[in-house]
Amino acid sequence: MQLTPLPAFADNYIWLLHSQQQVLAVDPGDGQAVLDWLQQHPGLRLETILVTHHHPDHTGGLALLVQATGARVWGPAAEPLPVPHSPLSDGQHLQACGLDWQVMAVPGHTAGHLAYWAQVPEQAPVLLCGDTLFSGGCGRLFEGSPAQMLHSLQRLAALPADTRVCCAHEYTLANLRFARAAEPDNAAVVAHEALCLRLRAQGLPTLPARLGTELHINPFLRSHLPSVRAALHSQTGQLADSDAQVFAQLREWKNGFQ
Ligand SMILES: [Zn+2]
Ligand SMILES: [Zn+2]
Repeated sequence: MQLTPLPAFADNYIWLLHSQQQVLAVDPGDGQAVLDWLQQHPGLRLETILVTHHHPDHTGGLALLVQATGARVWGPAAEPLPVPHSPLSDGQHLQACGLDWQVMAVPGHTAGHLAYWAQVPEQAPVLLCGDTLFSGGCGRLFEGSPAQMLHSLQRLAALPADTRVCCAHEYTLANLRFARAAEPDNAAVVAHEALCLRLRAQGLPTLPARLGTELHINPFLRSHLPSVRAALHSQTGQLADSDAQVFAQLREWKNGFQ
């Protein structure tokens, strides 16, 4: 199975998976970019499209791709999409690209956001998590509560540590700058930032990330730890009285972070 992050717009990735001739595309915001890629890979056929949530930068290419390829679209039952789609919800499974995908509801960024996880024979598992989990960060809370997002991230964090995390945006360097502020003594953040700076300088993606690495560097997966809480306390001067409140304060801090 081959995994390709196809860059689109300023900082999106459209993840493309293929084994043999079948291609699975994830969140194709730009349909033409996918058609161009398919043209450069003769013999491959777009069979399935998976959508994590309804935002236009993830769904803008659906109509063009369905019209041009006849691909089947799967997406959240609870969100409107611009084309007819097979509705999915938490706990369901679907077969695509020769893999068995587990559907996980991860509300927070949007109310009906889904993530997809699959084991891959002889390779590490793959997580398609849209705008819920980013390397070093997480999505903004447009439709969900901090408690919902925290719970969603906790579910993703419990997946196997070797999982390859396919995020929908290249936000890693900005996230890691914030991670340094949120955990000034975390040497893993500094080391990972150095690696990602080298990758970006060569024009390479910092993704997929390893879930095990995220557990060490991502403050939004670490908001239960004293190190993160201490930095948050000195930043806000407030004491939070629940995990969800800590998470909410951390997200607020990041929203205003330059
Ligand atoms: Zn989004
Ligand atoms: Zn997005």
